[in-house]
Amino acid sequence: MMTDIIIVGAGTAGLSAAIYGVRAGKSVIVFESEVYGGQIVNTPEIENYPGIKNISGFEFATNLYEQATELGAEVKFEKVIGIEEAGAEKTVVTDQGSYPCKSVILATGAKNRPLGIAREVELTGAGVSYCATCDGAFFRNKEVAVNGGGNTALEDALYLSNFCSKVYLIHRRDAFRGEEKQVQALKNKSNVEFVLNATIKELLGEDRLSGVVVVDKLTGEERQIPVEGLFVAIGQIPENTAFAAQVTLDDKGYISAQEDCRTKSNGIFVAGDCRTKTVRQLATAASDGAIAALAACEYLN
Ligand code: NAP
Repeated sequence: MMTDIIIVGAGTAGLSAAIYGVRAGKSVIVFESEVYGGQIVNTPEIENYPGIKNISGFEFATNLYEQATELGAEVKFEKVIGIEEAGAEKTVVTDQGSYPCKSVILATGAKNRPLGIAREVELTGAGVSYCATCDGAFFRNKEVAVNGGGNTALEDALYLSNFCSKVYLIHRRDAFRGEEKQVQALKNKSNVEFVLNATIKELLGEDRLSGVVVVDKLTGEERQIPVEGLFVAIGQIPENTAFAAQVTLDDKGYISAQEDCRTKSNGIFVAGDCRTKTVRQLATAASDGAIAALAACEYLN
């Protein structure tokens, strides 16, 4: 069966696009390789989405998922491995089948950037984590570290400081990329210590993490910090190589497009964090979803 719009990714951008697509009367399938919601599902608290004063990332994502599916979008949990094009007709190929469609919206988001140091993979799940909301509770009354200086790191550190005995916030600079309000909230916490201008050089521990070695970038001094948990929050990297034949990728792997969310291929659009853009926020992901879906509808009409 020919689908009007196939959306790759059930994060905020993809599900927002689905809402706009089905409300415009189009048939919509959303493919997701993991769980719905994308990155926001791991955010403990959202306070900056216009019109919603406070909500957890999980509840936000669930609301969005239910809104899209109840309006008529179909969500399939299959991994998209490529797109084939024959004239205007496209076929989205997944690990479970092939789906012909008239247009595609790529909303693949981005995945967590690893530290890239020795033993990181081995200790993941044994003290090293990329999700404070998922794994934080294992570290109640324990000492942990968060690495990063963006909103994710700041929010993770704040969240963990509510039940961990101590939180070290390790950041490679002395200024934060994330919101000042969160920085101030962390400064007011007696169990949070800022370790600035520092990078993590080594992970300690045999079967489980027992500490990290950080290097002061200014003095070169090394310091061992004993922690049982390390939450890595140093940003994201996109994963768009499967679509390299249809779209242009920039040097970091993001899909090149302007605010109109159009790619170089007719009928293929892009929305959210996987697109080249300067502001990657929940609000801009939702905005991209609406723009890409309406552009797809215009293309179909
Ligand atoms: P981000 O804003 O890209 O910040 C990544 C942080 O990690 C930066 O402070 C960066 O340092 C540091 N970093 C990058 N590579 C590193 C490395 N190899 N080693 C050590 N440190 C490294 O990432 P994010 O915090 O995950 O946020 C991603 C996007 O989502 C942002 O646009 C953010 O605003 C948004 N977000 C929004 C909310 C919300 O609105 N509630 C919540 C979470 C995230 P430098 O600063 O030195 O570059």
